[in-house]
Amino acid sequence: MIHYSLVCDKSHKFDGWFSTAAAYESQKTRGLVTCPICLTNAVDKALMAPAIGRAGSERVSLSIGHPQHAQLREAMVALRNKVTSEADYVGDKFAEEARKIHFKEVDKRGIYGEASREEVAALVEDGVDFMPLPSIPEEHN
Ligand SMILES: [Zn+2]
Repeated sequence: MIHYSLVCDKSHKFDGWFSTAAAYESQKTRGLVTCPICLTNAVDKALMAPAIGRAGSERVSLSIGHPQHAQLREAMVALRNKVTSEADYVGDKFAEEARKIHFKEVDKRGIYGEASREEVAALVEDGVDFMPLPSIPEEHN
């Protein structure tokens, strides 16, 4: 499996896992690589920001072979869809917005977005009660 950081034409960033680089190219050519936020297939590999230059060594948690793999995967997709359809997407401003909500500077509302490792660590330190959203690998048919 290889992991790509992807971005759509509306600048939504998301992760994609593919069996091979060729599988990514093939799925992209057939329009099967879609943004999980706006569902467009106008996506491309994101350029790595200089600040995350060590992204190649970044580890992610993965699982395979659970007897209920298919159901669990479906539940993760449902969970992700529930959050993304009922909350506001704030992109890279997640940490900033989450902090405002936590410290009651703005009215409480559901948001989701992305944060760097450093921002996540700072949020945990501040006692902000947030949760990770599952990144769903592409289905291989
Ligand atoms: Zn998008």
